[in-house]
Amino acid sequence: MGHYCGRTILLMVGAIFCSGIVGGRDLWGQAKTSFSWPVEKRMGIYRLHATFSLPELPEVEQELLSLEKELTEKLEIPFIKKDIHIYLFAYQSSYEAYLKEHFGELPYRRAMYVQGKNTSMVFVYYHPELITDLRHEATHAWLNNSFDSLPLWLDEGLAEYFEAPSAQGRQTKESELSDLFKKASPAATSLNYLKAKANLSDMVHDDYLLAYGWARFVLNEPSLLKSLKNYLKGRLATNPVGGEEFLTSQEVDFWVDSFRKSIHKNVPFEK
Ligand SMILES: [Zn+2]
Repeated sequence: MGHYCGRTILLMVGAIFCSGIVGGRDLWGQAKTSFSWPVEKRMGIYRLHATFSLPELPEVEQELLSLEKELTEKLEIPFIKKDIHIYLFAYQSSYEAYLKEHFGELPYRRAMYVQGKNTSMVFVYYHPELITDLRHEATHAWLNNSFDSLPLWLDEGLAEYFEAPSAQGRQTKESELSDLFKKASPAATSLNYLKAKANLSDMVHDDYLLAYGWARFVLNEPSLLKSLKNYLKGRLATNPVGGEEFLTSQEVDFWVDSFRKSIHKNVPFEK
């Protein structure tokens, strides 16, 4: 499951990279290599640039639009409607070549979300888990366009939660999470352990799983969901007012037993 490990690169320091990429398609079009985007399409706030014709992948549009609906319904937040550019490649080789040219400084990932200064970009290529990657990275785009400096665990946890195209898709994570709990020490399943990881490079596969578990717990526990909504409202990038932490270590200590029980009981989760 190594592919989960840091497949996202979150560049809040977009200024380093954005000199050549701000502006999106026009500058992309002037790139050194001969990439072209025969398919360019606007779908709500998404701007899709694809190297191949989309009728082969009808679910791309449907999944991106339903992701927006799910995020909005679940979090009830006035998300900022900023364009999200989706770059979709037919082949891994062209995806790799493109990223190497434009983001050569960065380690390779199977999918990438890049937050430039004024541009939000998702890069993915066609493979069996494309939709999962797309939803994961697009969730990062929605969150980071709207909120200022989310904690890493929350950003990754929500992306892991919303990446599954259906409740059935989340079932795989549920069994993995249950297995993790069988082998991990109690301290290693506390959110306080996860919160200590501030960099993506610190995150390993089990950390993504744990972030998913805590995000799922928060989303399904009414009082925590209410706190999350309040916290996010305070972090809105247009007017950040909230300075307080979401789930302090004391609050985590209070909730950790319920969290563990929810895993062991395999509490049903919503779609
Ligand atoms: Zn991620």
